[in-house]
Amino acid sequence: MQVDPASHPRFEEMFPTFTLEEIARMGRHGERRRYADGEKLLEVGKIAPGAYVVLSGHVAVFERDGLGQVTPIVDHGPGQFVGEVVQLSGRPSLVDAIAEGEVEALLLPPNGLRSLLVADAALGERIMRAMILRRVQLLQDGAVGVALIGAAASADVVRLQNFLSRNGYPFHTLDPATDPAAKEAIVRYADVAGGMPLAVCPDGSVLGNPSEQALARRIGMSRPYRTDFVYDVAVIGAGPAGLSTAVYAASEGLSVAVIDARSYGGQAGASARIENYLGFPTGISGHALAARAFLQAQKFGAEILIPAAAKSLDCARADGALSVDIDDGARLRARALVIASGARYRRPAIPEIGRFEGRGVWYWASPIEARLCAGEEVIVVGGGNSAGQGAVFLSGHARRVRMMVRGPGLAESMSRYLIDRIAATPNIELMTETEIVALDGPPGGGVEKVRWRDRRSGKETEAPIRNVFLFIGADPATEWLNGCGVEVDKAGFVVTGARCSAGAAPTPLQSSAPGVFAVGDVRSGSIKRVGGAIGEGAAVVAAIHGFLAHAAGPHL
Ligand SMILES: Cc1cc2nc3c(=O)[nH]c(=O)nc-3n(C[C@H](O)[C@H](O)[C@H](O)COP(=O)(O)OP(=O)(O)OC[C@H]3O[C@@H](n4cnc5c(N)ncnc54)[C@H](O)[C@@H]3O)c2cc1C
Repeated sequence: MQVDPASHPRFEEMFPTFTLEEIARMGRHGERRRYADGEKLLEVGKIAPGAYVVLSGHVAVFERDGLGQVTPIVDHGPGQFVGEVVQLSGRPSLVDAIAEGEVEALLLPPNGLRSLLVADAALGERIMRAMILRRVQLLQDGAVGVALIGAAASADVVRLQNFLSRNGYPFHTLDPATDPAAKEAIVRYADVAGGMPLAVCPDGSVLGNPSEQALARRIGMSRPYRTDFVYDVAVIGAGPAGLSTAVYAASEGLSVAVIDARSYGGQAGASARIENYLGFPTGISGHALAARAFLQAQKFGAEILIPAAAKSLDCARADGALSVDIDDGARLRARALVIASGARYRRPAIPEIGRFEGRGVWYWASPIEARLCAGEEVIVVGGGNSAGQGAVFLSGHARRVRMMVRGPGLAESMSRYLIDRIAATPNIELMTETEIVALDGPPGGGVEKVRWRDRRSGKETEAPIRNVFLFIGADPATEWLNGCGVEVDKAGFVVTGARCSAGAAPTPLQSSAPGVFAVGDVRSGSIKRVGGAIGEGAAVVAAIHGFLAHAAGPHL
């Protein structure tokens, strides 16, 4: 969409003009280049050589999707810069930038751009803000990035939409039921292997119902990392703990590789509003918080690879380095490693539960959810202490709390004081040997009805209930550590520091394996909160420095 200076409230921030003095300050981070009329400085789908500051002449910027739809965005004149967040990491461009007449420009390659952002805070702030605003604009425009062609309600369309949006990559969906261009595309690409939905990539290539990995590879989101290189630190997981580790480690000069199996942000990325993270009195969506951290880590030079799942860890250090086998067949090597793979809240086997998460299905009960339930009837599922605390807390807000457990009672799983408190709270009803069998609500909407079954009689009951709280535990994402020698507790969480059984690890966040650390939800005994995860990510970097100072030298 052409950005109109008169109507866009942040036009000046999105397209700043730099003075000659400011451009002179940028000079040492790049090199002057000349471009002939019509030459492409950036081309959709091709690795961008960097960002540019126009010194003379004009550069026209266009959106172009894989279906050939071209839309002008803006015209850059002298003093303006061409580029957005892909230029930070040297990934393929989402736009075309074409010289209009003779152009002289300062090319800032990705490492030059990053060094400018770090070295010159005042310029860095303006450039970073402009790049973020430009990406937001591209995400909103709907005429750039991947074109997904398929029925809007198809599970694979939703899967790919989720993947792209969680990773901040622009896309638009064309439903053949309503869009003639989508109908045409289906005929044109009828012989594409894989079937529906189709993903038309910015470079014009088409994939049939791709996996997330295949799509990410094709659009240049996940690039091969340096397998011939030993990083100072490998971070497994790009949730709050992993991103925090990456920001602090990279900003302190360590070489850092981060991988994540799905997207940046982890569980927090799914949170509609985090109200308890320091410094955001009005709250911030988990995705917005994680997107900022993702860019921040790249600004300091961390290499982030998504999607890439760790399959196994080898702590033997045969050649001095730790090595991680990745699901794409490659191997990542590092001198130290941070396990930040988090935990997944257990989901009961209720059909379609995923579509109600954050819309009536909750995995915790804070004052925010409690406000949503004021005066209503709610269900709490689970028989442990967290469920008991949740039920007691909610009973102060909800009209009635139905507490459902599959077993015959609470005695085996809950502390006595909570059992007594539940028994003494008149608006909590304990329903033993009961399980939810169905949730109902309109597409895109919240829960409206819940059906449950009495496991003894088989009798099913349905009631208009809009909030269900699930406290059935979380499983650590540590299956990839099996057999590597890193100690885990009974539930599978990584044991660190003084809790390690074979003699205390030297620092609180170090695991039983030298140079292998654990932070955030995956760590046994950690506070399962965004703030806790981010704090541990910052703290672990000092321990890594300590470890590397001793381990470096003859051994590696
Ligand atoms: C919906 C929701 C809302 C929440 N809201 C709040 C809130 O308001 N306030 C609050 O304080 N806390 C909240 N929490 C809890 C908070 O999100 C977590 O405590 C926090 O995200 C933990 O961060 P982490 O980085 O340790 O782990 P995670 O967020 O779990 O991130 C771990 C990452 O590791 C990746 N991973 C896992 N296995 C592998 C592997 N083998 N290879 C590569 N990558 C892997 C995962 O894909 C994931 O991205 C919420 C949780 C959820 C689910």
